[in-house]
Amino acid sequence: LRRNPGELEFHQAVREVLGSLGPVVARHPEYTDAGVITRLCEPERQIVFRVPWVDDAGRVQINRGFRVEFSSTLGPFKGGLRFHPSVLAGTVKFLGFEQIFKNALTGMPIGGGKGGSDFDPKGRSEAEVMRFCQSFMTELYRHLGEHTDVPAGDIGVGTREIGFLFGQYKRITNRYESGVLTGKGVTWGGSQVRPEATGYGLVYFAEQMLAHRGTDFDGRRVVVSGSGNVAINAIEKVHQLGGTVVACSDSQGYVVDEAGIDLEVLRQVKERDRARLSAYADVRDATHVTTGSVWDVACDIALPCATQNELDETHARTLVGNGCVLVAEGANMPTTPEAVQVLADAKVAFGPGKAANAGGVATSALEMQQNASRDSWTFEHTEARLGEIMRGIHERCLTTADAYGLPDDYVAGANIGGFIQVADAMLALGVI
Ligand code: NDP
Repeated sequence: LRRNPGELEFHQAVREVLGSLGPVVARHPEYTDAGVITRLCEPERQIVFRVPWVDDAGRVQINRGFRVEFSSTLGPFKGGLRFHPSVLAGTVKFLGFEQIFKNALTGMPIGGGKGGSDFDPKGRSEAEVMRFCQSFMTELYRHLGEHTDVPAGDIGVGTREIGFLFGQYKRITNRYESGVLTGKGVTWGGSQVRPEATGYGLVYFAEQMLAHRGTDFDGRRVVVSGSGNVAINAIEKVHQLGGTVVACSDSQGYVVDEAGIDLEVLRQVKERDRARLSAYADVRDATHVTTGSVWDVACDIALPCATQNELDETHARTLVGNGCVLVAEGANMPTTPEAVQVLADAKVAFGPGKAANAGGVATSALEMQQNASRDSWTFEHTEARLGEIMRGIHERCLTTADAYGLPDDYVAGANIGGFIQVADAMLALGVI
């Protein structure tokens, strides 16, 4: 805490993981002897840099860029870039820390890292976004490489931004190094299913949780927060599995559409028009609400897919009161620790993001595999691999939780499972 003052989200993420590790260090003193936990809490490298760019009015703008290279024990640093005004060092560090265990859980050869900037792409022209991305990459490129550090997208960074970043990397290095970034468009080195992967993977994971309880999505009423990449694709997969998503949100409110969110309209509003969610209600027979929270809408299943700490204790009590049976996190750390406790007390099944949203990074690793072999797989093949990976993560959470006498505790299963994978490799690689 003393070393990282004011980094509240980072403290929260570290506490959350360490809270599960008591039984592990009791059983494996070798981890403590080798300083595994202390080493894991200190990033291997942190890069902070100035991003100067010129806006459309000719004014110079300055943003701050970050890349936190947390752990390369299992593979190159891997994790997204977030462009949002709320991004601070502690935000990137919490995300990077989580990423180590998430990536380990996938069983794929990827380390953990995260990056971003306090740049706000909202309301900026395409030319401004391009100039910002080019300036950002002009500094970051020297730290990247397909065997070193491989960023992807996150909040505010989609295929468009990855394209501008990749273009600048290619220009500066004079190398067509496809494996240096993931989330690329399919015609220029990207993977099928990558845009859908986090949302689809989340719903596959929730499907496994339901199956474990002898039930499924069919006929279920579902609420999803957010209306970005993860949320939209989660909504699509819920509908494919027979559930109905009745509400989703953005940072200015939420819409309730009792007939089920219309995906075509939502994609038009959010992806093509880049408009506010209120525009959805102008087209559909839906209500746009700007007070309270999307969690006030009664549901059987809640999928938080917006941002950290968006589902608090009060929201959790409302969900429980409305009969919600399952919460699975599409976003990173969206549920506060107090809310997690309320859900646990009420025996609501809870799938933590580390496990439930790992489908995105897993498919990024599949993109890296395709880039390395100069191959591109079909949508069906890639989606089948994603399904297999999510089933594998679910199984690993349950078997790990069982092995530590904590049956059905997905939080313990994910934290311990991810930790052991990376800790064993750290022992093997020595004190570095
Ligand atoms: P997008 O930028 O595509 O969408 C983010 C959505 O969340 C938007 O609807 C946005 O609303 C809302 N949102 C963002 N910040 C806030 C805030 N401070 N308060 C309220 N609403 C907010 O991002 P993604 O869908 O890619 O990411 C969503 C979450 O999923 C993040 O936690 C991310 O870390 C996590 N994640 C993403 C992965 C991916 O593959 N993309 C992989 C794994 C996790 P508005 O438009 O109004 O800003």
